[in-house]
Amino acid sequence: MCGIIGYLGDRQATPILMESLKRLEYRGYDSAGVAVLEMPTSGSARLTSVTKSEAKVDTLIDKLKANMPSGKLGIGHTRWATHGKPTYINAHPHTDCHSRIFVVHNGIIENFAELKAELEAAGHEFTSDTDTEVVPHLIEANYKGDFLSAVRAALRRIRGAYALAMFTTDDPELLVGARLNAPLVVGLGENEYYIASDITAIIPYTKRVLVLGEGEVAAVTPLGAEVSTLDGVSVEPKLIHVDWDLSQAQKGGYQHFMLKEIHESSEAVANAMRGRLTDDGTVSFREFDVPDDDLRRHSEVLLLGMGTSLHAAMVGEYVIEDWAGIPAKAMDASEFRYRRPTFGKDALAVVITQSGETADTLVGLHQAKERGALTVAVTNVVASSAARDADGAIYLHSGPEIGVASTKTLLAHLVSLYLLGLRLATVHGRVSLERRRELVESLRALPDHVQSIVDREKEIAEIAHKYSRYRNFMYTGRGLGYPLALEGAIKLKEISYIHAEGTTGGELKHGPIAMLDENFPVIAICTASATKDKMVSNVHEIVARNAPVLALVTEGDRSLAKVATDVFVMPAVEEAAGAILNTVMLQLFAYHVAVELGQDVDQPRNLAKSVTVE
Ligand code: GLU
Repeated sequence: MCGIIGYLGDRQATPILMESLKRLEYRGYDSAGVAVLEMPTSGSARLTSVTKSEAKVDTLIDKLKANMPSGKLGIGHTRWATHGKPTYINAHPHTDCHSRIFVVHNGIIENFAELKAELEAAGHEFTSDTDTEVVPHLIEANYKGDFLSAVRAALRRIRGAYALAMFTTDDPELLVGARLNAPLVVGLGENEYYIASDITAIIPYTKRVLVLGEGEVAAVTPLGAEVSTLDGVSVEPKLIHVDWDLSQAQKGGYQHFMLKEIHESSEAVANAMRGRLTDDGTVSFREFDVPDDDLRRHSEVLLLGMGTSLHAAMVGEYVIEDWAGIPAKAMDASEFRYRRPTFGKDALAVVITQSGETADTLVGLHQAKERGALTVAVTNVVASSAARDADGAIYLHSGPEIGVASTKTLLAHLVSLYLLGLRLATVHGRVSLERRRELVESLRALPDHVQSIVDREKEIAEIAHKYSRYRNFMYTGRGLGYPLALEGAIKLKEISYIHAEGTTGGELKHGPIAMLDENFPVIAICTASATKDKMVSNVHEIVARNAPVLALVTEGDRSLAKVATDVFVMPAVEEAAGAILNTVMLQLFAYHVAVELGQDVDQPRNLAKSVTVE
């Protein structure tokens, strides 16, 4: 989720690792560490020096300066915890039982629990709570003198997402990298090589970069880098030349962090599901492991959030009510705290906060706890206040989000709430096996569908260009489309400062319609749902007031083809999945309107990423 750097070359590794980690700092992280294979003094055994910090990279650098490891092979890491708290012990690099193998990892090992159990049964001793630690132990279990073969054998057993940099004390001239569902590149310098998760790390050192493909392993030696598959078949690596400056590299070549993060949507959706869903729709959350009977006793669900997280809560409300057949209520946490509570021990309170530090939401959480509700935080930050204070946590695993306006983390929130909805539906016996399988299928297909919308960015930018001259916007939808309308409006407001509001299709003619005219466009969410026909009628009413309409419709549905001013055609998917696709479209639309108007999309005026005051 965060940053990796590896070095092998003629120079001292430590200063290079320090500088690279410093350049990776902009992404945000919770702890950091390096391992350097030290030069043996004559006759002594080769040793690896490991230095870690559970605080800032600067603290790590101070430690390294005080005791500078000397060596030409090393790896470094900034961690964004997914499994195990952000502590010293859990900071990377991790090692095997004999401190012979050193590994840094970005991503999530989905099947780490079963691998850990197997390795422990075989006598391996673990020292951390991370998923990562299974990697060095698994390599150790397969290591019979050929490190690369052991790495490949280990990785063939691993499911999930990884970018890895590794070495063994047995070979001072071998640095190994591997990736699956997480980025990793190999930088080629003069008599030196780098492995990095992010080009930013190596930008001052080289412009020549090999991009590893999915499931590929790079063996880097003083002779060069050789790339192969996990089965050992050689691959012709893809060489690219990057001439980005530091700021472009940080944004992965995109103009803004927000755009980069929208382009990470598919990955964010996949990461939120990783290791939590079986083929028959059984959902398990490691940090919210409540037995079925306990969960069943909670017959009412409260969902608390603010801003975009409140919209996620509202989507969750619809879905939980619909799938699990129990009362669910989304609430603005800042209002909730001042209302007379009517709920008690039977309630499940779900608090939704990207940062885990949102002040209003935390107070709501504490109140819910005081009244005896079961509480769970859905958050992107491991061991954040919300995660610590709630009875359980569902982590988004989205990696850092830098743009102030939430994008990929909202998608991960929605996916997490769908999984929670499915779990509740199952314990309340409200969903057949067949329907569960259908939902699983649609969730599993979601990352590809999301990518298909992101890939249509140019088409969305053209629509945004056309609409960017208006100063007012109405967003409207019904059912799941209603929170999305609110979200579409908030996103536009946040980054373009254009007035926008969201309303239900039903509410339109009870007031808001009075404002509509040829200068007040409406974005109408008319994709497939039980109320789609009602939305079509709404669009007719809007058009009759001369307001331009951009309608989101499902492919094959021609009912608005000649009615709306513009239609954006969405793939035909299950409704909850469709809500995520609509969200991505609306995010890209808002982004391009703001860019068109020359706004500072990553740091909009008057807003903060984490709102830690009431
Ligand atoms: N899952 C690993 C951990 O929690 C890696 C996290 C990361 O990508 O930084 O340690």
